[in-house]
Amino acid sequence: MTATAPREEQLWSRCAGCASLLYRKRLRRNLDVCPECGEHARLGAPERLRQLVDPGSLRLLPDQLPEADPIDFVDVLPYPHRLSAARASTGLSEAVVCATATIGGHPAVLAVMDFRFLGGSLGCAVGELITRAAERALDDRIPLILVTASGGARMQEGVLSLMQMATVSQAIAALREAGLLTVSVLTDPTYGGVAASFATNTDLVLAESGARMGFAGPRVIRQVTGRALPEGFQTADVLLRHGQVDMVVQRRSLRPRLGALLAATRATRPSRPPVPRQEPAPRRERLAETGPTPARPADPTTVGVEPTNPAVRDAWDTVRMARHPGRPTTLDYLDSVFDGFLQLHGDRLGADCPAVVGGVARLADRHVMVIGHQKGHTTAELVARNFGMASPAGHRKALRLMRLAARLGLPVVTLVDTPGADPGVSAEEQGQAAAIAENILTLTVLPTPVLAVITGEGGSGGALALAVADRVLMLENAVYSVISPEGCAAILWPDRSAAPQAARALRLTAPDLCRLGVVDEVVPEPSGAAHDDPAETARRLRAALLTNLLPLLDVPPAMLVRLRRQRFRRFGTTRAGSRAGAR
Ligand SMILES: [Zn+2]
Repeated sequence: MTATAPREEQLWSRCAGCASLLYRKRLRRNLDVCPECGEHARLGAPERLRQLVDPGSLRLLPDQLPEADPIDFVDVLPYPHRLSAARASTGLSEAVVCATATIGGHPAVLAVMDFRFLGGSLGCAVGELITRAAERALDDRIPLILVTASGGARMQEGVLSLMQMATVSQAIAALREAGLLTVSVLTDPTYGGVAASFATNTDLVLAESGARMGFAGPRVIRQVTGRALPEGFQTADVLLRHGQVDMVVQRRSLRPRLGALLAATRATRPSRPPVPRQEPAPRRERLAETGPTPARPADPTTVGVEPTNPAVRDAWDTVRMARHPGRPTTLDYLDSVFDGFLQLHGDRLGADCPAVVGGVARLADRHVMVIGHQKGHTTAELVARNFGMASPAGHRKALRLMRLAARLGLPVVTLVDTPGADPGVSAEEQGQAAAIAENILTLTVLPTPVLAVITGEGGSGGALALAVADRVLMLENAVYSVISPEGCAAILWPDRSAAPQAARALRLTAPDLCRLGVVDEVVPEPSGAAHDDPAETARRLRAALLTNLLPLLDVPPAMLVRLRRQRFRRFGTTRAGSRAGAR
């Protein structure tokens, strides 16, 4: 096409599927689906909305939010430069466009992601806008339709972007409770944090023909497994065969199909028992006042940080410390911090994942449900435990135990230590994204106290699947991040050797996350690090667990859930104002 004059380039385009040269106007009339081979070209959000909704019914929702660069992220370019470039090239203010409209005459709220804007990445503003769209659906008592196109969470906003998976999921949970339909339409591509949250924890999941969806991307999976991927891996038709989506829909059928679904669910609504109206928008002030200890804002001056080394440790050194093979594991803590651990096995769907252990144990005189990732100290142990990387079965075992705890009135304590969720082929085929998404959603509304501790590595969605909690503690030399420093370096820097720089840019250490309000308290490690004195580490962890758990036990479950929602709701762009504090 290089020889083609600019004017002609606008008139013609080359199909990515069959390489046919197509007349643009004809292609657009055909909804950007190749008439020769059926390839569905990617659509921007404005065009997608135009195709999906009834003509004349579209009302855009406000999309202006305060500027956010919550962690002052710089790779080879400062983050604000990347944002400005994305705005200039797309004409959009963010990677999602939200609106109300009718489809087949039925009202709905839509949030449509745009892959052209920084790869459709989920940052604080995107999370905030989708959450507001969900809250609008709740207020208007109409369904929510999410059209996803995303590479995952936005690295440049660090772990705060990971928190958006919980924020949006709890908004979906509120719609679920209110009996309002949520639908996601997967378009190409939908990956990472978006796949592992609101793309798959909706009531219905539709996939546009040809769309690919997965938790881990094909490149990562090939790297980890060293194998070629099966034919059609992660594509809509294969997802359908593996039970991951409700239906695969051709683009031209999307509007009528959505209209039919909205009509069907609308017809059943009057016969349902009336649902008490949900709290509308967050009542920040009021909730903050009524909150007992759990809502205590993170204040670095009040936490028990006593850096063992007076000189602040470099983030990369902390990463290496967090991965140290001698570091106590979940089973070590179950032996040293808790008493009488009774391990419970299995997801009841055909597997027992060795990377997740859980069961009932005593903490002082209380019974609790403990769930954690299990790594190991030797290579043999690490291999047997899949390096602490949970499979979908591991997430479903955790889910079963969380729900069981709530039914039995047991508080949940989670111990998080994973490089990330299992990125293998079978994990994808068994629904890794949906398994993580369901855990996150369930934890946002679990009616029992939840206390999470990041004990070693808190790796992205796999960590969050156990870390949506009333209180989040972190051992002094643990790390918690949206992506591994190596992964981040490979994407944003010229090569992986920039991992130490990426570690610093990501703000993944306990003191950093305490300042950002993601972590409530840092548990100091003994002189050296946890592996130098496991007994003293256990003593300190036990004391921190008791201090943080006991106040939660007196809070009524409904109040706990409300406070937990508030905790995760505040990780939107409201955090932008506290930039200075994030340094
Ligand atoms: Zn074609």
